[in-house]
Amino acid sequence: MGIKKVGAKPQTLVEKIFFLDFIKGLKTTIKHLWKKVITVDFPYEVVTPPIRFRGIHGLRTVDGTENPEFDSWVKRLKIKPPEPGETRCIACKFCQAACPVPELFDIQSEKLDVPEDHPHYGLKVMTVFNMDLSKCTFCGLCTQACPTDCIIMTDIYDLSSYTRKSWVLDKDVLTQIANDFVARRGKEKFDEKSAWREDQKLWPEYDKTRERLWDFNMPRLGPNYQDQTA
Ligand code: SF4
Ligand code: SF4
Repeated sequence: MGIKKVGAKPQTLVEKIFFLDFIKGLKTTIKHLWKKVITVDFPYEVVTPPIRFRGIHGLRTVDGTENPEFDSWVKRLKIKPPEPGETRCIACKFCQAACPVPELFDIQSEKLDVPEDHPHYGLKVMTVFNMDLSKCTFCGLCTQACPTDCIIMTDIYDLSSYTRKSWVLDKDVLTQIANDFVARRGKEKFDEKSAWREDQKLWPEYDKTRERLWDFNMPRLGPNYQDQTA
C-alpha cells in the first residue's frame, strides 16, 4: 500500500516575487476587521450564560415556592419544618448518592437538643453541607436527584482560586449563591412550583431514552441512608 504525500502546493515564481500568499492572508484579516466581534474581552467584559448553564452550585431556601412534595419529604426525614428563609435541605443525601464523585460532599444532620415536651423533640436539622468543587465534574446529576429542588446550579462560571481549601463551599456560601441567583434569574429558570421549567431541564421530558435510563438506575443510597430515616 502506497503512502500518498500531501502538502502545500509549491509557490510559483510570480507568487514568490509578489508575496501573493501574504497579500491573500492580509486580505482575510482586513475583511474580518469590519465584522462584528463575537468574542468578549474577559474579564473586562462578561457574557451572561444561558439559563441551563451548569455553573457553581447553590442551596435554595424556603420562599413559598416549594414543590408539592416538600412537606411530605420533611416529615419522612424527620426534619424540623423549616421557616421561610431557612434551607430547603433535608439532609437526605440523594445528591451525594447520584454524584459520580460522592466524596466531594460532606452532609451531616443532628437531632435538636430540646426537651421531650417540645414540639420539635426528635426532629433533626441539617448542620453541615460542604461541597469541594475542585472535584466536581459539573454534570448536574445532583440537581436532578434532589427531591426538594434545594441544590441548583447557577450561572457563575469564573472559578479560580489560589488554594484547594477555598474550593470547599459551606452551606452559608452555597445559600448566598442560590439566593443571589434566584433573585437575579429565578423567574427564567423555575416555574411557580419551584420545579425546573420544562425547557430548562437537564434532560427534557421528550428525551425518553435518558428518562428510561434514569428510572432503571436510581442512585444507590449510601450506607448512612438508614441513619437518616431512623
Ligand atoms: S455536578 Fe455532578 S460531579 Fe458536581 S456535585 Fe453535582 S453530581 Fe457531583
Ligand atoms: S438531595 Fe437536596 S435535600 Fe437532599 S441532601 Fe442534597 S441538597 Fe439536601
